[in-house]
Amino acid sequence: MKALAKSEAREGIWMVDAPTPELGHNDLLIKIRRSSICGTDVHIYKWDEWAQHTIPVPMVVGHEYMGTVVGMGSEVQGFKIGDRVSGEGHITCGHCRNCRAGRRHLCRNTKGVGVNRPGSFAEYLVIPAFNAFKLPDEISDDIASIFDPFGNAVHTALQFDLVGEDVLITGAGPIGVMAAKIARHVGARNVVVTDINDYRLELAAKMGATRTVNVAKEDLWTAAQELGMTEGFDVGLEMSGSGPAFAQMVEVMNNGGKIALLGIPSGEVKINWNDVIFRMLTIKGIYGREMFETWYKMAALVQSGLDLSPVITHRFSIDDYQKGFDAMLSGQSGKVILEWD
Ligand code: NAD
Ligand code: ZN
Repeated sequence: MKALAKSEAREGIWMVDAPTPELGHNDLLIKIRRSSICGTDVHIYKWDEWAQHTIPVPMVVGHEYMGTVVGMGSEVQGFKIGDRVSGEGHITCGHCRNCRAGRRHLCRNTKGVGVNRPGSFAEYLVIPAFNAFKLPDEISDDIASIFDPFGNAVHTALQFDLVGEDVLITGAGPIGVMAAKIARHVGARNVVVTDINDYRLELAAKMGATRTVNVAKEDLWTAAQELGMTEGFDVGLEMSGSGPAFAQMVEVMNNGGKIALLGIPSGEVKINWNDVIFRMLTIKGIYGREMFETWYKMAALVQSGLDLSPVITHRFSIDDYQKGFDAMLSGQSGKVILEWD
C-alpha cells in the first residue's frame, strides 16, 4: 500500500510502498480517506532531537485521520463494514491501575499511533476497535479528520468552568484557535488570544477571539484593560509551549485563577512561583484526550453548531504531501488536510 514514512534518519518524509498492516482479532482495518498534518509530524519531518530519540526508522507516521471500516477482527462488536470512523491515537495497556479504573488517558504504558506503531498516513490503518470512534453523519469528513487535535483543544478548554469567565489563550496555533472557538461557544465573556505571528492571530479572530494580541508588539495587560478587565484573567489555556508565554500568563491571572497547560516547552521554563503560591493559582497539565469523554464532547459541540471550518486553511492530494508539509513549515497555515480519494 501507499504510505508516508520516515524511512531515513534525516530531514524529510517519503512516499513508500509499505506492507498493509495485519488485522488482529480485536482490531479494525480502516481505509483512510482524509489525513491531516500535526505539529508532531512536523517534528518528525524536521528530525529534531525529540524525533531522533522517539521514532524508530523506518516508520509509517501520521495520527490525524478519518476513514471507512473495511475489515473487522473476529471479536469486534459495535462496528460494521462501511462505518465512518476516526480514532484515538493513544493505545493504552488495559491492565495498569488507571486503565482498570477507566482512566485510560492516564495509562502509564501508552503507545502512539504513527509514533511507536504504524500510523495513518497510509492507505490502510489497523487500530484496536476500542480506540475507534464512530462518526455521527452531521460531522463532515474534513472536520472528522482533525478530531485528534480538536480533542486536545476540547480536553484543555473544558478543564475549568468558562461560563462568563475571562479567558486567556497563549498561542494561536491550530489548537489555540480551536480552543478560542470552544470557549466562546460554551459562554466565556472575553477570550483573548496571544501569539507573535500575525497570520495566526487573524485566524484566531476568525475563530471568535474577542481580542488578539501580538505580544511582540503590544502590551497584553493594556489590551485586557481596554476590554474592561480590572482584576486579571479567570482561566488560562497555555497552547504555545513558549516559556515566556507561560510566565506572562502567570502574571496576568486573577487571584485564584486556573491554568490548563497543553503546550510542550522545548526546555526549562521559569515562572514566578510566589505568584502561584500567594495568589493561589491552580495549574493542571493536560495530555491527549480524555478517553472517551472528550470524543463525545467533540461530537456534541459540532452537532450543537460549533463551526471549525476556518481552521482548515490548506488542502492537497496525498501525492502532493510535500506541499502540505511546506505549508505547515511556513508558519502561515492552520490545519492542512491531505485527501486520499
Ligand atoms: P503550534 O506550534 O502550531 O502553535 C504554537 C503557537 O504559539 C505558534 O503560532 C507560535 O507562534 C506561538 N507562540 C510562540 N511564542 C509565543 C509567545 N511568546 N506568546 C504567544 N504565542 C507564542 O502548535 P499547535 O499544534 O497549535 O499545538 C499547541 C501546543 O500544544 C504545542 O506546544 C504542542 O506541542 C502542544 N501539544 C500538546 C499536546 C498534549 O497532549 N499535551 C498535544 C498536542 C499538541
Ligand atoms: Zn494502562
